Amino acid sequence: MPERFPASLQQKIEDRLRYYEDLGIRLFYTDRGPGSTTLVAPEPIASVSSSAPIIEETVLPKPTTKPAPAKVAPVAPPPLVVSPTGPSLFETMEKVKDETLLNIREDLGDCTRCKLHKGRNKIVFKLHKGRNKIVFGDGNPKAELVFVGEGPGADEDAQGLPFVGRAGKLLTQMIEAMGLQRKDVYICNVVKCRPPENRAPEPDEVTACSPFLIRQIDSIHPKVIVCLGATAAKTILNTTRGISQFRGEWLEWRGHKLMATYHPAYLLRNPPAKADVWKDLQKVMAELGLQLPKKSKS
Ligand code: URA
Repeated sequence: MPERFPASLQQKIEDRLRYYEDLGIRLFYTDRGPGSTTLVAPEPIASVSSSAPIIEETVLPKPTTKPAPAKVAPVAPPPLVVSPTGPSLFETMEKVKDETLLNIREDLGDCTRCKLHKGRNKIVFKLHKGRNKIVFGDGNPKAELVFVGEGPGADEDAQGLPFVGRAGKLLTQMIEAMGLQRKDVYICNVVKCRPPENRAPEPDEVTACSPFLIRQIDSIHPKVIVCLGATAAKTILNTTRGISQFRGEWLEWRGHKLMATYHPAYLLRNPPAKADVWKDLQKVMAELGLQLPKKSKS
C-alpha cells in the first residue's frame, strides 16, 4: 500500500495538478486517490445574445450602413511595438489543440478554484463564494475581435452574461458604431465571478482564472484582442505601466494583435475620453477591414 501524504500536502498536490490541467497539461500518470475528483455538473454555456438595449445619448457615431461589415482595400498594418514587460504565464502557456468553448466551459464546471488555504484544514473562499452565476463569456466562437474586460458586475452576476449593465450598454454602442453587432464579436473578462463590491480582482484570483481566458482566446483565435481598461490590460500584458502609456498602440500577444483602450465604465465617468476610445476603435476597424466612417466636411 503506498503511503499517503499528510492531508494538507495531498490537497496542495491535487490543487497543483488541477491547475496544470486547467493550463492544458494533462499527462500526469498519477492516481490522485479517492475523493479527489469532486466533479460537479457544469452550468450550460452562456447563450449568444444580441438583444442588449441601446442607450440613447452618446457621442459615438451611429453606424451609417447596415451592420454587415464591408471589406475595403487592405490598410497597411500599424507597426507592432514590444510588450511593455517580459513574458508572463499568459504568453508562455502552450496552446491546447482543437479546443472548443464548450469543452473549456465544461472544464471550468462549477468552479471553486480561487480559494486560499489559511492554516491547517481551514480554507478561505474567494470570488466563487459570493457569486450568483459564472460569467464565462458571450458571442461568436469564431470572432475576429475579442473584448476582454475586468470582471463581472452585479448585472452580469445576475444574468451570467458579460457587459450587460450600464457599461455594457455603452460597449454595445461602441460595437455597433464599428458596424458590428454583439453577436459578431466575443466578450469575456479576466475573472469569471464578480469581485465583492466590484473591487479589482486579486492576483491569486487572476492566477486561478487566467488559464480559462487564455484557452478561450486560443480557441477563438481572433485577429484582434481589445483589452477594456487598466486591469485587463495590465493583467494580460503583465505590466505595471499605466494604461494611458500604451493605450491605442498595437501590441503583440500570443500571436494576436492586441490593443488596450479605456473601460466603458471609465467613459461613463469621463465622457470626453470617448474620443480617444473611438480613435482606438477606428484603428481596430482598419485592421479588420471594416468600413471607416466618412470624415464629415467642416
Ligand atoms: N465590467 C467588466 O469589466 N466586465 C463586465 O462584464 C461588466 C462590467
